[in-house]
Amino acid sequence: MEQKDLAQLEKDIKTKLGQTEKLLDKVKKFPDYGISEDDNILEIEEYNESLGLQKNLLRGRKELKRALKAIKRNRYGTCESCKTSINPERLKIYPTATLCVKCKSAQAKRKPWLQMPWRR
Ligand SMILES: [Zn+2]
Repeated sequence: MEQKDLAQLEKDIKTKLGQTEKLLDKVKKFPDYGISEDDNILEIEEYNESLGLQKNLLRGRKELKRALKAIKRNRYGTCESCKTSINPERLKIYPTATLCVKCKSAQAKRKPWLQMPWRR
């Protein structure tokens, strides 16, 4: 991958990380619902939603940080499984990708539950 593309990606990842942190802050401030029996269904649903969101955000943050670390160590863009270079076009769409397309589709066959949007 070209240096300028890598620099751009690093910038994008940092921006995303910043947004994720901000959202996490908001979600954490979500009031505690679901404790009193008077809670209505809507509030409980909102609470569950925020818990799910928080989980996704935490996972996203982890993957973004991992990508930044890989950039620093000059290992970014290398498939974790077969060690070949991941297609830069793929990285532009999924900056946190750690597997090349070939390994990813092999994994999809073995572990279909990993096919969540943030895991691509
Ligand atoms: Zn691979």
